[in-house]
Amino acid sequence: MQIIMYLTKVFYQVGDIPIFNPLYIHACIIHQWLLNFTSQPLSVNQKSAIMFSPHQDDETLGCGGLIALKREMGIPIKVIFLTDGQKSHTATPWIQAPENLIEVRKQEATTALHILGVEVSDIHFFDLIDGTLNHLSNEQYQNTIKHLVEIIQTFKPGEIYVPHRKDNHPDHECTYKFVKAAIEQSQIELEILQYPIWIFWLSPLFIKLKFSYLTGAERLCINSVLEQKKEQLQFINLKLQFFHLGFSKVFC
Ligand SMILES: [Zn+2]
Repeated sequence: MQIIMYLTKVFYQVGDIPIFNPLYIHACIIHQWLLNFTSQPLSVNQKSAIMFSPHQDDETLGCGGLIALKREMGIPIKVIFLTDGQKSHTATPWIQAPENLIEVRKQEATTALHILGVEVSDIHFFDLIDGTLNHLSNEQYQNTIKHLVEIIQTFKPGEIYVPHRKDNHPDHECTYKFVKAAIEQSQIELEILQYPIWIFWLSPLFIKLKFSYLTGAERLCINSVLEQKKEQLQFINLKLQFFHLGFSKVFC
């Protein structure tokens, strides 16, 4: 058993080295293609925004630079976490004991967002169980939508950021669906932008990743706040350094 555990650790450590990780290479090629050839530049506007994040790291990886830029301009931002993040390390339990993960990840998210100027009062945790968004009971689903509608109607954001609708993770795709349903019920006019987390890693090009998913891609230069995003990433449990290339990518 110890040998198997040791081999598993070695596998993960080798997989952490980009040149040995085919998923990293695949994601890197698509990111570079989008950044350099097919996306349009996006500028930061004055609209208030809500970032919806399935887990405590998606907001940083997907929108950290944008949050920093908006907060620098004094624009109101709220960040909503749908799940408690307890299953982030089920395959690598030696990194953090599962029973500690919920509080650890909440604290990490709060600390990371504080660096970007987001107040604790603007961070909300729905605490749904990680990995269960596509299995909610009807009552849980209705309560979640009701809660989302209340936040949207109270805050009245000009923009909403959600994971890409085809982000290839059940919690991420459900977050998009739940927020979309809540926006329809709230009857507030706003713009929805989708940020990619897993889509380029786990959706093979020409097989699951269709070009239609990438049309209308926009890129945002975050060079002026890159150091803040790097600092913020130090507080995030999940180490996906690839995402901080100096740009934040969003899709209309
Ligand atoms: Zn996630």
